[in-house]
Amino acid sequence: MKLVLVIEVGISASKVGLVNQYGDLQAQFSVDHQKDRIIPNLYEKIIDGLETIGINYDDDIEKVGIAIPGYVDHMLGIIRYSANLELTNYNIKEEAEELFKKQIFVINDANASALGEFWTGVAKQYDSIIFYYIDSGIGGAVITEGKLSPGARGFAGEFGHGGGMFQDKYDCVCGLKGCIEPMSSTTGIVNHFKKSLKSKKNHPASSYFNNIETITFKEIVEVFENNEDPIEVILLLQEAVEPLVMHMATMQNALDPEAIILAGGLTQLDQHIIKIIKKNIKKYIIEMFAEELTIENAQLGNDSAMIGSAYYALNDWKIF
Ligand SMILES: [Zn+2]
Repeated sequence: MKLVLVIEVGISASKVGLVNQYGDLQAQFSVDHQKDRIIPNLYEKIIDGLETIGINYDDDIEKVGIAIPGYVDHMLGIIRYSANLELTNYNIKEEAEELFKKQIFVINDANASALGEFWTGVAKQYDSIIFYYIDSGIGGAVITEGKLSPGARGFAGEFGHGGGMFQDKYDCVCGLKGCIEPMSSTTGIVNHFKKSLKSKKNHPASSYFNNIETITFKEIVEVFENNEDPIEVILLLQEAVEPLVMHMATMQNALDPEAIILAGGLTQLDQHIIKIIKKNIKKYIIEMFAEELTIENAQLGNDSAMIGSAYYALNDWKIF
């Protein structure tokens, strides 16, 4: 049985994996690359890496799936824009095919994560999900009737930006107003904590933190792990994720999915974040939609994008 070689491209290093037809990640390793030589660097190091683990590239690998951050035209395999990788209109598929000499499938990383969870993770029993990948940025994906909806150009699921009305406290790096990312991403949450605690002397939540200036998301998670009911911190977190909750309500009302799935660093808050979202989303949701509302945390952790890009490569037809 042949394998899919998957590459999850990061800023200075990429994760490489081998996935079989059942979605099992059979091996993985990491390779460094220079920003301006991503594909040539990856090719050389991957071929070496595969040899070390006893894989014959020509015989054992069927296809290559690439997951990458940014606006990805999945049909053409062109990265239209990636802020993290500083790339504009880069034809990664063409360059990769010249070197790798296999069929190359390119997909946005949040879309890939959603497909991973949909194939073998928490969403495998669902046909329709709204997927939020919340870390230092916010991405997402929509799967309806068992198919990823990538949008006409592959841009669907960019939930972090646009919309205009989700919050009016923080400017966004994208230049638009009211985006959810600057307030509800893990970085946004930390900023909101710092700003709120600094703006009020003896803020009731400040006693949970050693130093307001250096609060990290991990420390916020630890407050929940070490305290039964840290109400002052819950209230601040609730404020920070309010734009996210409003966005989710809009999506729930528009698409009526079977479940909303959360992934990324935010899920370190485990059931605490689910509880906060479930409680607050009812303010913005039509009662009938709220009745069977399911919100769950992803299961595959850091492997989801690799597994999902293999699924995409194996079942390309499924998204159309
Ligand atoms: Zn924005």
